[in-house]
Amino acid sequence: MKKLLMSLGLLALVSCTSTSPTGRTQVLLVNKDQMTQMGIKSFDAMKQETKISTDKKLNNYVQCVSNQIIKTIPKDWQSGWEIVVFDSDMVNAFALPGKKIGVYTGILNVAQSADQLAAIIGHEVGHVIANHSNERASQNKIAGVATQAAQIATQGTEYEAYATKGLGLAAQYGFLLPFSRAHESEADVIGLKYLIKAGFKPEESQQLWRNMAKVGGKAPSEFTSTHPSADTRIDNLGAHIQKFKEQGIKALQPRPSCSR
Ligand SMILES: [Zn+2]
Repeated sequence: MKKLLMSLGLLALVSCTSTSPTGRTQVLLVNKDQMTQMGIKSFDAMKQETKISTDKKLNNYVQCVSNQIIKTIPKDWQSGWEIVVFDSDMVNAFALPGKKIGVYTGILNVAQSADQLAAIIGHEVGHVIANHSNERASQNKIAGVATQAAQIATQGTEYEAYATKGLGLAAQYGFLLPFSRAHESEADVIGLKYLIKAGFKPEESQQLWRNMAKVGGKAPSEFTSTHPSADTRIDNLGAHIQKFKEQGIKALQPRPSCSR
């Protein structure tokens, strides 16, 4: 009986496999619409609870860079993105299912050029398009952890602070937990490709991580988390800049002029 259940379980897993943009096999067990709804609900809650930047120039700048990136992603992903600039000194940005991206003003001091901001936006878009949140929720499911109970995993860790910073619902769904090394590296690579196609300077993505390393782990965020290490990311990006060059991946449009 146990064997039968196990093979039934395996069958269910096999039927839910999918392929990420870099060709990696993934298991996605959570209904896509459900993920989208959770993302939208979390984002709405954050917009209620966290101060949104009213700096028009800054908002236009972030929107300008984001638009350039979104123009280069697969056609069926291009519509319906929402990008919000939150007024907070946290060095962070995040992406939620449902095409929601949050950028904190704090990270704009670390991303010192439009090219570096494009690396951040590309990375976040990469997480969404590669269904990383669904994959992580699915892994929790396999491990027998209910997604709704993901906040338990944050208790007693530096991430617990999120719950008190008006990020309750997103934290509760586990959206704000750091992604795995594999997901981080994959989001870097996916983002890099978009940023090259969008006409931004790919080498600036490496400079971004040098800047990030100087900030260190002062604030818990997916950008200041220690995995992968800045050196590993910079090397990985360098290798992929070379690889994409050899593959003939190039800018599809002139370098955008987004100024802050
Ligand atoms: Zn990430």
